[in-house]
Amino acid sequence: MADRSGFNRFFQPTLGDMLRIGVGAKVACNRCQCERVINLEMLIAKVGPSYSLFNRRCRCKLLPGCQGWNYFLHDRSGVWLPFRDAAAADRWLAG
Ligand SMILES: [Zn+2]
Repeated sequence: MADRSGFNRFFQPTLGDMLRIGVGAKVACNRCQCERVINLEMLIAKVGPSYSLFNRRCRCKLLPGCQGWNYFLHDRSGVWLPFRDAAAADRWLAG
């Protein structure tokens, strides 16, 4: 089986990078299946351009009361990929 874990290894842009090169970001929940496109400009205004969504997750903010995890996706030429590496994926799926 092809090891695709290296695919994202060199793609861990900051929010400022994503805005500059035009990479879209989405947040999704592993439980309620909610999904929302992230407004990068608004997020940068809040956390600054050097923040990165890579390997980040947080408790669900998309649906009140949901106990799921929110994770981030990024747009690679029209394909939405989870914004994390293989190690984080293993850790999160185990937890
Ligand atoms: Zn949720």
